[in-house]
Amino acid sequence: MSLKYERVLLKFSGEALMGDGQFGLDAQTLRQVVSEVKALRELGVEVGLVVGGGNIFRGAQIMGSGIQRTTGDQMGMMATVINALALRDVIEDMEMPAVIYSAMGIEGVSHGFNANHVKKGLAEGQVAIFAAGTGSPFFTTDTAAALRGIEIDADIVLKATKVDGIYTADPAKDPTAERLAELSYDDVIQKNLQVMDMTAFVLCRDHKMPIRVFDMFKKDAVIRIVKGEDEGTLVH
Ligand code: UDP
Repeated sequence: MSLKYERVLLKFSGEALMGDGQFGLDAQTLRQVVSEVKALRELGVEVGLVVGGGNIFRGAQIMGSGIQRTTGDQMGMMATVINALALRDVIEDMEMPAVIYSAMGIEGVSHGFNANHVKKGLAEGQVAIFAAGTGSPFFTTDTAAALRGIEIDADIVLKATKVDGIYTADPAKDPTAERLAELSYDDVIQKNLQVMDMTAFVLCRDHKMPIRVFDMFKKDAVIRIVKGEDEGTLVH
């Protein structure tokens, strides 16, 4: 079967792993997310994952407490490592090899990021999990997704959100809101649409990395995307 995308960078927020909870990880949701990764692997798609940490900690939330922002951001990056560890085990439990590449060195827990190693591992069928964001404060895991996607020569960055794409208005508030199937990078800037944070978005634009915004909990959405079917919103 011919696939439109053979190597993808899949980004989801830490909150996507919380299920109905307010904090942390939900076991059933983790398995649900990993089953989408499994479906991709079964098609032969190479998968790199970037996970956020917002279900545990965000650097900005500690402001005013005496803890510096840079420390808070390091704590946020550590939160992404916690999520990566959980994902790694569930992925392996579902019989796929997985490796964590962390932007912060944590001996005995993860490997350092090296694009060549990652690409070889992907070709051997490993799922690569990119932890600790970019490794620098004041960035987000969206930026890490853009960066890692470009570095590993992914065909596309798939950004999972709660809504199945970008709409003309907020579909929760406006029943006439329509999903936009496709947008150019310039459309996003002119219309001030929220696709990713601006640093991430500009990186993708400058490196011609397409982005698809979609709902990971919509059955088979990710499969439809790699087959080239209309799903979510493509920005390119
Ligand atoms: N973070 C950071 N640098 C990065 C990526 C993340 O400092 O390159 C920190 C930042 O504090 C952020 C937290 O890690 O709030 C969790 O990441 P993010 O907010 O992107 O997670 P998400 O909202 O996607 O769950």
